[in-house]
Amino acid sequence: MAVHAHPDDESSKGAATTAKYVTEGVRVRVVSCTGGERGDVLNEKLKGDPHIERDLAQVRRDEMARAAEILGVEHTWLGFVDSGLPEGDPLPPLPEGCFALEPVEVTAEALVRVIREFRPHVITTYDENGGYPHPDHIMTHVVSMAAFRAAGDPTAYPHAGDPWQPQKVYYSGWSIKRIRKIHDAMVAEGLESPYLDWVEGLRQRPERDINTFVPCAEFFPVRDDALRAHATQVDPDGFWFAVPMELQQRVHPTEDWELAVSLVEPSFPEDDLFAGLRELDLEAVCRRSPQRDADGEIVAAYRSVPPPPQDEDGDGVDDARQTEDLDDEVTELEGHHDRDGEQAS
Ligand SMILES: [Zn+2]
Repeated sequence: MAVHAHPDDESSKGAATTAKYVTEGVRVRVVSCTGGERGDVLNEKLKGDPHIERDLAQVRRDEMARAAEILGVEHTWLGFVDSGLPEGDPLPPLPEGCFALEPVEVTAEALVRVIREFRPHVITTYDENGGYPHPDHIMTHVVSMAAFRAAGDPTAYPHAGDPWQPQKVYYSGWSIKRIRKIHDAMVAEGLESPYLDWVEGLRQRPERDINTFVPCAEFFPVRDDALRAHATQVDPDGFWFAVPMELQQRVHPTEDWELAVSLVEPSFPEDDLFAGLRELDLEAVCRRSPQRDADGEIVAAYRSVPPPPQDEDGDGVDDARQTEDLDDEVTELEGHHDRDGEQAS
């Protein structure tokens, strides 16, 4: 089960891994926590189209359905409202009723319900910085971890289905090493790297403990097709598609993951999100209530340690959480420019 913040995130983060597993016969469910209602039209060619602008939320639902079809996944809308990306100094307050402001008990219960119904063995989500500091991405992490902790607990949300304990959580992330490798290969081959500013901007961000490398190069084109299905959110001639496919497949033929929690002992580096699980009777194992410590936290065989917060500019804020430090293009490709703080209707 892949938990994402907005429609299009499932196609930009880990999509080739998803397509690979679907091809192998694994059932994959994508959960979108929000409808992406506060995204803008980011494709120049579609800006100003009255049909799109009249009901962007519906257009995005249609785009998501097409992307799900391309990836071969099942899809669930969790039903919360996009928080938008606050911009400005000082930052404006988040809009009332948005996903990031919902009580975690409410949002986690909704996700627990989907977990107990779909019964995944593995969950993918974002790291504690959201992988990218959008309030909905950070909340997606919080809700995923709360739901992972509660799903197998018979005393938690007893009306949300029979307990089911997924065995692992992975964070999808941008590996800085991967971006550098592709950047260096582009430069070495005399091509213009789209990552120049980004590589500079990422210099002060800590490298995370990426330990799982899923070979999926033959599915990179499927990933790109799924991303292109989100036509209002990506420019087909833009940043995302600037690196030649052949170069990506040759230089870095994997998608990279950070194992966050595992109830089975891992053996690093891994090349499979189901490593250590394939030989188990998962129907029985996931039905078993996990061992817990005095705080009710699951006793895991492995938990990743987040990098310490970095504050090189000394403003008391973790640099990784500062949206203004990120290259504008990162924000743009994510598709979350708010409409000047104005609420989407
Ligand atoms: Zn997003």
